Amino acid sequence: MSQIVYVNGEFVPAAEAKVSVFDRGFLMADAVYEVTSVVGGKLLAFDGHIERLQRSLSELEMASPVTMDELLQIHRDLIAKNNLEEGGIYLQVTRGAPDARDFAWPDPAEVPSGIVLFTFEKPLIDSAIMDAGIKVMSIADERWGRRDIKTTQLLYPSFAKMQAKKQGCQDAWLVEDGYVTEGTANNAYIVKDGVIITRELSTDILHGITRAAILRFAIEAQMKVEERLFTIEEAQNADEAFVTSATGFAQPVIEIDGAQIGTGVPGDISKRLREIYTEEMIKAAI
Ligand code: PLP
Repeated sequence: MSQIVYVNGEFVPAAEAKVSVFDRGFLMADAVYEVTSVVGGKLLAFDGHIERLQRSLSELEMASPVTMDELLQIHRDLIAKNNLEEGGIYLQVTRGAPDARDFAWPDPAEVPSGIVLFTFEKPLIDSAIMDAGIKVMSIADERWGRRDIKTTQLLYPSFAKMQAKKQGCQDAWLVEDGYVTEGTANNAYIVKDGVIITRELSTDILHGITRAAILRFAIEAQMKVEERLFTIEEAQNADEAFVTSATGFAQPVIEIDGAQIGTGVPGDISKRLREIYTEEMIKAAI
């Protein structure tokens, strides 16, 4: 069966899907996106992703072409049409396709926003990387200043990930003014003497939906959480490190810039948080 995607109001086979060459998402990365995980054919943390989408749209004065209720139905229809059991749904809203390329935004009354959704299969629960943990390298954070808006400007994170791969690492931690901001596509944490440390929310990082859930579960489990800046050096001397994202859940980090973290194997707190997260999110899936 060929993959069915959703493009501007229609469900079509992926090979037949078309987007205009004038679409501002394509020309200018003038687009926002969300990725929602699917386990057992159900959506994880859907409300959180939709709330963040609304915020991203509003920060960029972009209109949504569909209502949020319609979005839930489109997600469910795509899961059904593609028989998706485990993986995710990518959703992108763009500022549409005006007749001419112009830096100024078109009038939304004249140029409707564009919307694309597609599914992908990915094993989320049984992850080999959980047993092994990932190695990360540090790199300067050279992204734009509004990282709290989830835009499709992903060239720099993509570049950083490639640099990491060349160094034999699975990801990069971005560093600004001496402090870790986040990973290329995840939020970053360290654990020292039982305290979970992660950067506080601001325009410097994406407000991860997984981050919010993980911190809530950690506090409910009587773990200590500190939202503050930390350096690569502090991370290298931590007992544990991990990253969180919608499709990665909580993934342990075992090496940073060649320095082993803790005993060099995934730490107990990272493992416990992943267990709680998996269990609770599957329970609440819709
Ligand atoms: N930080 C960045 C830069 C990201 O791109 C992502 C996810 O794509 C995250 C953090 C994690 O966010 P979430 O937990 O909502 O997937």
